[in-house]
Amino acid sequence: MSSYTQKKLKTATLVAKADDYLDTTTGGITPPIITSTTYARDDRYNPINEANLYTRDNNPSFVQAEHVLAELEQGEAALLFSSGMAAIACVFYTLGSGSHVVLPNSMYWGVYSWTRSYCDRADIRISYYDANDAESIAQAMEGAARTDLVWVETPTNPMMQVTDIARAVAIGHEAGATVVVDNTTPTPIFTQPLELGADLVVHSATKSLNGHSDVLIGALVTKETDERWDKIVAERHGAGALPGPFDAWLLLRGMRTLSLRVERAAKNAQKIAEFLQTHSQVEAVLYPGLKSHPGHKIAKEQMLGGFGSLMSFQVVGDRDAALQMAGRLNLIVSATSLGGVETLIEHRHSVEPPETNVPVNLLRLAVGIEHIDDLIDDLSQALR
Ligand code: PLP
Repeated sequence: MSSYTQKKLKTATLVAKADDYLDTTTGGITPPIITSTTYARDDRYNPINEANLYTRDNNPSFVQAEHVLAELEQGEAALLFSSGMAAIACVFYTLGSGSHVVLPNSMYWGVYSWTRSYCDRADIRISYYDANDAESIAQAMEGAARTDLVWVETPTNPMMQVTDIARAVAIGHEAGATVVVDNTTPTPIFTQPLELGADLVVHSATKSLNGHSDVLIGALVTKETDERWDKIVAERHGAGALPGPFDAWLLLRGMRTLSLRVERAAKNAQKIAEFLQTHSQVEAVLYPGLKSHPGHKIAKEQMLGGFGSLMSFQVVGDRDAALQMAGRLNLIVSATSLGGVETLIEHRHSVEPPETNVPVNLLRLAVGIEHIDDLIDDLSQALR
């Protein structure tokens, strides 16, 4: 780990330095990609390097990115996974049958649908709370002898509901539950859930952490390297949902510009939200940076200097009006995902199954780092 860590560097410096790497053999300041899956033992059968046995446990190319993530989230340790969903699944795999979990009623569809099917098979009971109202977590716990896990995603994707993390932690911990926060959308630049008391943070590092839409990767960060973390480490080792070393290296490289990218994208998002809010063809704008957003006050308290790059808006009209608007865009690409340097738009109702609560006229905008004038010109011509 870096010699600078004791000095509590600012996040922009932490990511730019990327664990302060210096190759002692070559003097190189960027790390090599270690492709070896296995590591030799010496004549006494001891590993030549204690840290490296087999890549399903560790690979130097993961470890550096894991250090940076742990520092960024102010946790004791981090682990990389082959996707955000693999990281999320790992948390659920460590729960025993008969467990009770409390999840938000609005969240990234992939987590919502996977947990429904997995928990059903694994005999884990789910109760839902209102993502706008952390107090409703207590109601969701009523009737359960014990609650094992409380899940928070804030702002939620794509409905942009804001949950008070500190309150979720207080309610969850009072019941003895582990509190997990999916910090994909805000990134640790804008929200630090472990500082607010959460136990674990999960990331789809595919999104803003990598930032270039060219690697599928996930991560977990823990506040403490306790028994719960040991189970997660064992589960990752056992099930083996790890990234490749090149993916980990791409993530590390992407994270070096994290603060610049997310700050620029959040500024763009704020300006776009303000523009859309006054447009006659827009029915509603869902972005916590707007004073009119119901979660603005809480977001302002728990988000540090920006409200993120994700937003949604509802056009005036129906499903066709939304799809036609998206189709008229020239610069902004219609595609799934978020957190890349390029702005993407998606009609979420089309990709979530029929029981989704996402309105038919909603478009999700994952704002990138292009010049704001070009983005507003494109949106403006498409909203005609
Ligand atoms: N969490 C959130 C908030 C997401 O938006 C996504 C993907 O869009 C995931 C988790 C899943 O991540 P991945 O696609 O890397 O598996």
